[in-house]
Amino acid sequence: RAKESGRGRVQRFEQSMMEAAARRRRLETDMARALAENELSLAFQPLFDIEAMRVASFEALVRWKHPERGWISPAEFIPEAERTGQILAIGEFVLREACRRAADWPTEIGVAINVSPVQIRTPGFPLLVASALSANRLMPSRLEIELTETAMVEDGTMIATSLSALRALGVGVSMDDFGTGYSSLAHLRNFELDRIKIDRSFVDAAPSDPGCLAVLRAVTQLGRELGVKTLGEGVETPEQLAILRDLGCDGAQGFLLGRPLPAEEVADFIALSGWTVGGSKQPGAHVA
Ligand code: C2E
Ligand code: MG
Ligand code: MG
Ligand code: MG
Repeated sequence: RAKESGRGRVQRFEQSMMEAAARRRRLETDMARALAENELSLAFQPLFDIEAMRVASFEALVRWKHPERGWISPAEFIPEAERTGQILAIGEFVLREACRRAADWPTEIGVAINVSPVQIRTPGFPLLVASALSANRLMPSRLEIELTETAMVEDGTMIATSLSALRALGVGVSMDDFGTGYSSLAHLRNFELDRIKIDRSFVDAAPSDPGCLAVLRAVTQLGRELGVKTLGEGVETPEQLAILRDLGCDGAQGFLLGRPLPAEEVADFIALSGWTVGGSKQPGAHVA
């Protein structure tokens, strides 16, 4: 009796493993079609300069509209694309499309893309970036690469080589979701970062959790001393924004300041946020 139920559990386990494998195979086929049929697009979320309270750049976030399933989150398909290697094709689409869109914006506004460790480990990656920049006549200083801290610490030498090639091009490098991985503070110096994006879990908890507030304070101070810009992710309330401002954090990103927008709406957002070429801020600026 006990043996039978044990066997039953094993069978159920095997069946759920098989179902998961079938789902993954299906996702892989669907992603191949998504690339071929242009089902992928980019949304752009503004990054604000806190002191000037002005949009400084936009982060490109990949979107997939599946013909039957509707919108599928990158949190679901990016890990699978990394496993199958399809991230290389998806990442190239993101890079080229982000550069193409940014080429239409005022030259003072930058664009950030998320780059997977699989991409950064590929020897041809810096060359691909150079090609996307020149094809769209985009100044390298307008592009920023976002890498998570986990991506930066694994396989150190290859990544260091890619990062220094990107820096030589003039592309910015920022550490994404800081505080969620395993890197040590020493990495902040070794990688010669342009920006540290502090994970939204700290921003979220800062108003109620003194420990999280202390982490925010320490990271912004460290950034200042190392000459690395800091940005708080996931700002949803005026209180969180005020905390970041008081700590002297350079930048903020989050639903309070702007949700990810379709590419077609970026120009209007820039105009509404009071941004004009030359940099003067107009009254009635969009902040919420
Ligand atoms: P991420 O790079 O940290 O991007 C920020 C995510 O937080 C986005 O989710 C954004 O919509 C969300 N977010 C922004 N502000 C707020 C806020 O105030 N509150 C809350 N609750 N969420 C906020 P999204 O677009 O679903 O992307 C999730 C993750 O998927 C990204 O995290 C990034 O790691 C990855 N990803 C997205 N696009 C790409 C891509 O093109 N390539 C790669 N390799 N990864 C990507
Ligand atoms: Mg990011
Ligand atoms: Mg992030
Ligand atoms: Mg994050």
